[in-house]
Amino acid sequence: MKEDLIQKTAQAVFRSKKVVAFTGAGISVESGIPDFRGAGGLWEKFDPAEYATIEAFHANPQKVWTMLMEMGNLLESSKPNPAHTALAQLEKMGHVRSVITQNIDHLHQDAGNTRVIEYHGSHKRLVCLTCGQQYAKEEVNLDALPPLCRCKGVLKPTVIFFGEPIPTGAHLQAMEEARDCEVMLVIGTSAVVSPACDIPVLAKRAGAAIVEVNLEETQLTRYVSDWILQGSASQILQSVLDGVAGLRKT
Ligand SMILES: [Zn+2]
Repeated sequence: MKEDLIQKTAQAVFRSKKVVAFTGAGISVESGIPDFRGAGGLWEKFDPAEYATIEAFHANPQKVWTMLMEMGNLLESSKPNPAHTALAQLEKMGHVRSVITQNIDHLHQDAGNTRVIEYHGSHKRLVCLTCGQQYAKEEVNLDALPPLCRCKGVLKPTVIFFGEPIPTGAHLQAMEEARDCEVMLVIGTSAVVSPACDIPVLAKRAGAAIVEVNLEETQLTRYVSDWILQGSASQILQSVLDGVAGLRKT
């Protein structure tokens, strides 16, 4: 049964040059990054009300930066897993056009994907809350917290805090990709949080096949997905990649 669905997915991907992957925390769990909201996640140690709202950041950026340093160390010590590398291969082969990710870990780019829409921002880029200037994290001195802009404004990662809107550019790009795709692979996300939940729905309305890759069934399974591949994202995506590679040879 599952083998049939993997083959069906491989065929859909093989036939299309407009495959969009939409990913969430579940794809990075096998890279050693627990879902922040789940067991062992960051929000068990740091109360998000105190550390992850934009109000908390404005009230005490130094305190919130202690959490951000710990988060940054975790993310920087992690590496792409076979699910990330399979998506990068599928982009190289000309099938996956873009990745829309809710993750802030940069692992899709580390794996080799070049068109990545970071829907919730990135831990690798910092923005000045006073003048809007952006910096790569590597070029900023993090010895004294919070780090400051040349204008002396406080720097914050572009990561979206609770209470902040999705960056307009990323939102518009994601909607455009969703409206113009033929296959959407929804991986490691239940996509229940608004407005991220609109992305698979938009793709479906535009006629795309929605293929879900998740450990458990989600709300999408019943209402949006055409079919679900249930299990480990890295095993499933490697199998899909093998299937596509096999079809290209025939
Ligand atoms: Zn500034």
